[in-house]
Amino acid sequence: MRLLFLLFLVFLVLWAAKGLVRDLKGLVRENPERKRATPLSDELVRDPVCGVYCPKSTAYRVTRHGETHYFCSEKCREAFLRSS
Ligand SMILES: [Zn+2]
Repeated sequence: MRLLFLLFLVFLVLWAAKGLVRDLKGLVRENPERKRATPLSDELVRDPVCGVYCPKSTAYRVTRHGETHYFCSEKCREAFLRSS
């Protein structure tokens, strides 16, 4: 009975150690990504008309000459289209 308990303890320790190693690896893997770039949906883009920064996912966009321009509102987009 005591042997079984010991085995159980060893198993628990190994399981905990495995989890710890996995967590450390996850932290090492995660950190550079967080520093490199925010997720695409959270990327901020600058409105060339009014200079406001807005999330790329919700911005109004116009593609001209292969270049995509982002705007905070329909109004800014129209102003850009009119001026160019
Ligand atoms: Zn704007």
